[in-house]
Amino acid sequence: MQDIFNRLIRHVDAISPEASKWSWEIHVVDRGIDNALTVGAGKVMVYRGLIEHLALSEDELAFIVAHEIGHNLRLHARETLSNILPIYAAGVGLSQALTPWSSAMIMDYGVAKTMSRSQEVEADRIGLELMARAGFNPSAAPNTFVKFYEEEAMKRDALA
Ligand SMILES: [Zn+2]
Repeated sequence: MQDIFNRLIRHVDAISPEASKWSWEIHVVDRGIDNALTVGAGKVMVYRGLIEHLALSEDELAFIVAHEIGHNLRLHARETLSNILPIYAAGVGLSQALTPWSSAMIMDYGVAKTMSRSQEVEADRIGLELMARAGFNPSAAPNTFVKFYEEEAMKRDALA
């Protein structure tokens, strides 16, 4: 994950000048849930479950990471947090929102969507461009969604 992240970060200046100077970090969180998210400030988190359960290829993982980087480059977390966090904190969200940045957790893929649809589309578009610049295959992106929703459907069936 660190290697994929580093490859993508090398190209962020093409999207947002000087962005390569931000303090970018990726963390793999040792929990079995299928999720990836960003809290802004160049910090991206991917949960172990997403990597293990979905059997993602390197290109598919790169799409998820590039998408989260895209949210950062457009400062979506900043917009979203100021709009959503007070509501989110008062509701169910934060009690299930996990380490290490629990107070600022945004569930991105998966449980609770807090980014707007237009922000998601923008993060996808930027993510695809970053992937291409870094030498990953952007045509892997649709399959990432297929695997994600298949996994979600299987879990729903198992619960039922
Ligand atoms: Zn997103």
